[in-house]
Amino acid sequence: MELSEIRTQWDLLVIGGGIAGAGILSEAARLGIRVLLCEERDFAWGTSSRSSKLVHGGLRYLKEGRFHLTHESVIHRQRLLAEAPGLVTPIPFLMPIHKGMGPGRLATKIGLSIYDMMAGRWGHRYLAQEEFLWLAPGLGRAGLQGGFLFQDAQTDDARLVLRLIFEAEQRGATALNYTRVLGLSRDRSGMVSGASLQDTDTGQGLEVQAKAVINATGPRAGSFHDPPDPGLGLRPLRGSHLVFPHWRLPVHSAITLIHPQDHRPLFVFPWEGAVILGTTDVDHTEELSQEPTMSPQEALYMMECL
Ligand SMILES: Cc1cc2nc3c(=O)[nH]c(=O)nc-3n(C[C@H](O)[C@H](O)[C@H](O)COP(=O)(O)OP(=O)(O)OC[C@H]3O[C@@H](n4cnc5c(N)ncnc54)[C@H](O)[C@@H]3O)c2cc1C
Repeated sequence: MELSEIRTQWDLLVIGGGIAGAGILSEAARLGIRVLLCEERDFAWGTSSRSSKLVHGGLRYLKEGRFHLTHESVIHRQRLLAEAPGLVTPIPFLMPIHKGMGPGRLATKIGLSIYDMMAGRWGHRYLAQEEFLWLAPGLGRAGLQGGFLFQDAQTDDARLVLRLIFEAEQRGATALNYTRVLGLSRDRSGMVSGASLQDTDTGQGLEVQAKAVINATGPRAGSFHDPPDPGLGLRPLRGSHLVFPHWRLPVHSAITLIHPQDHRPLFVFPWEGAVILGTTDVDHTEELSQEPTMSPQEALYMMECL
């Protein structure tokens, strides 16, 4: 649909076509709200096509003692597995237990038992070293005692965004890609009342009015307005992945690796015939509208984990 073909009065304008914007669009359409979504590139161009593709139940939140958040994540994972079969799929996860590194066997067993109970099904078991190495043949033997096999879930993040957008469109929502929101417009009292849009292909512009505007621009959410509290601000972080051909790193399940340097967990998992290793977690100081790139230090850091 062209910018010139759309109406100028909306109940809701959503800025950003990542998973947050697509989810809001879908929910608004379900409620019968007249909703418009604008994405300046293609849908899912941003973080939502570059994630680690995991729909995890928040095992690390459990480690931090955040039971409520873990429970919520587990419930949503189970719901997505039930509602989007084929798009959100179970993935076996291996967690090695090393002598003197990371949580031990008992603590992990307790954590995984709570995790499974929250999901309402029993899905983990302990494997002794030999059996564990059958499933993770490339893993070093040094200090490896064995490990746990449990279930989490995986998705194609970009397809999930597209599915939500297409379903919302079927319910009457409008979603425009290659449409940039240049700025917000305000009424006399200073309240946001709409936005100026621009077709990034033709340069054509349009002013739209909306009763509500939701800024779902992810890392760029700070670019439209000042934070509600001057002390609040976004700190852009970058996580990078390395992609290997499957023959180079032949894994069939996701594996948690503990980095030898700082003991951070990294994941290696099969993906579309390849294998992905990630991630790093570093401050991103480059311009946010540009394609992010991995530094050589990040690549070296991840290679040290193998
Ligand atoms: C390395 C890494 C790994 C991750 N792994 C996982 C994982 O395994 N599982 C998980 O659940 N989460 C994961 N996450 C988190 C998840 O990816 C993000 O929380 C999620 O993608 C954020 O979605 P979003 O819609 O808020 O932002 P984005 O996906 O970034 O979407 C924002 C959109 O806004 C658009 N936009 C910006 N400015 C404008 C404008 N002026 N006009 C119009 N459009 C505009 C951008 O083009 C972009 O498409 C990971 C994140 C990172 C960084």
